[in-house]
Amino acid sequence: MRNEKFFEGIEKDIKELLYGYMKVESFSFSANERLVEPFLLDWFETIPYFREHPELCGAYDIPGDPLDRKVMYGMVRGRGNKAVVLIHHYDVVGIEDFKLLKEYAFSPDELSEKLMEVKDSLPRDAREDLESGDWLFGRGGCDMKAGGSIQWTLLKRYSEMDDFEGNVIVVAVPDEENMSAGMRGAVRLLAELKDKYELDYRMMINSEPQQRKSADEGIFSEGTVGKIMPFVYVRGYLSHVGKVFEGFSPVNLMSEIVRRTDLNMDFTDAVAGESSPPPTWLYLKDSKTVYDVSMPLSMAGCLSVLTLNQTPMSVIERLKKICEESFDKILGEMRASFDRFCAVAKPLVKELPWQPCVMSFMELYNEALRDHGEAFRKAYDEELEVLTAKLTGGDTNIIECNFELVEKVFEYVDDLSPRVIYGLVPPYYPNVSNYYYEGLGERKEITPYLNEFTTKKFGERYTNEYFFTGICDLSFSGITESKEVTAALNEYMPLFGKYYDIPFDALEKITMPCINIGPWGKDFHKLTERVLKRDLYQRTPRIVDHAVEWLLG
Ligand SMILES: [Zn+2]
Repeated sequence: MRNEKFFEGIEKDIKELLYGYMKVESFSFSANERLVEPFLLDWFETIPYFREHPELCGAYDIPGDPLDRKVMYGMVRGRGNKAVVLIHHYDVVGIEDFKLLKEYAFSPDELSEKLMEVKDSLPRDAREDLESGDWLFGRGGCDMKAGGSIQWTLLKRYSEMDDFEGNVIVVAVPDEENMSAGMRGAVRLLAELKDKYELDYRMMINSEPQQRKSADEGIFSEGTVGKIMPFVYVRGYLSHVGKVFEGFSPVNLMSEIVRRTDLNMDFTDAVAGESSPPPTWLYLKDSKTVYDVSMPLSMAGCLSVLTLNQTPMSVIERLKKICEESFDKILGEMRASFDRFCAVAKPLVKELPWQPCVMSFMELYNEALRDHGEAFRKAYDEELEVLTAKLTGGDTNIIECNFELVEKVFEYVDDLSPRVIYGLVPPYYPNVSNYYYEGLGERKEITPYLNEFTTKKFGERYTNEYFFTGICDLSFSGITESKEVTAALNEYMPLFGKYYDIPFDALEKITMPCINIGPWGKDFHKLTERVLKRDLYQRTPRIVDHAVEWLLG
């Protein structure tokens, strides 16, 4: 166990760094994220070790990043090859809900004073925490510059030790709250460092705030949920509302698919007594931009599915089946309705022409290629160029971009009958967990080991969960079935490898177990976001350090 002398004055160091770090208003997916670079480069300058070893710290390029953001990193090299990686994200979410308190959002002390003036309007739990003085309020404090400041402060102290055992790398990334461009870039950096210094990665430690289920028991997460986002695009057949049976409305069919998937527990999986939350639709729109008396030509949406064990393939297969069943059901209902209509109205045509048709994006692509060959391929590639430029310029979002691409393909498909197209939209987060890793040896015991420490030292118990359900960058700590996943993304995700990329080879190379050890935090992304000072300044730095020392010993 580390000598207490090591921690002398650490509270002051963490606080000083955190207050400065928070003042950098690094809103996610904005040019502001780059303000972190000078802030941290200046901080590296204050540390003798990094002045002496400038090659061990700096700003690492994220290839093709639309905002030219960087991964910030620092490394302390000690004896041997064992290495621990500490990660955190430096982007923060917006402050719209701070309303009149916006100017105090990044100043914890002033914000607390101002909140006290309006404390009666706060939820009871937040008000009590505010009055206790035990919590630090402010945007980006809890989520997650608190964890970041703990990591940097520990790194500085390691750099001052004469005889450090092992290696520690701190990696700070942008874009976690968006598409994790930072962490996907960091995977490349970690693979390069591994090669260069022949590192043996023991574990990746994130320090996102822990979300406790009870006040007197802490929690470590030894993994994190995956996230996958299937899309569905329903192409109907346009007609005037006075002649509904001559057309096919995409709205009814899409609604059926939505109804059968939203919150559908068949899409969840249970592992080690934990369950992923059921899926929900994040986006759903028809293609109309004006009012007229025609039905919409198409309707599209995407569904967020959180996974503990499912692969992209298994999610896609399940969704496809639901699309097929929904198509049959809606057609059946439409025919029944038509029969009743015919009994009175005596239309010319006695039978509806529609047949169920459900296919993947790639199948649609191949049909367009069959129909129009090179002309289609050229037009598609050009459209992709235009769209990625628009995306990079912030003129569209990734979901709209995906559907514009689908519509482009439809322009080159000769058969106009209604159909359902399915596929995947970025981002994709692999599910990871120490539960799945074989051969971890004593690292399997990290939670009981740390629990013994916290119980003895602070009289506080810690348990573990195998999956952090908040979605976090630990998803990019490793991968087990990268070939299958790569094949699925290539097949079903139109934007994969173009605008959106995951460096699977590098990810496979760095694959290591992971854990989240963070301070207790509440109300992330809200006005009352806060982190427990006791954890921030005293307990969490000691727990993280204890883990580091053990993993490197
Ligand atoms: Zn976070």
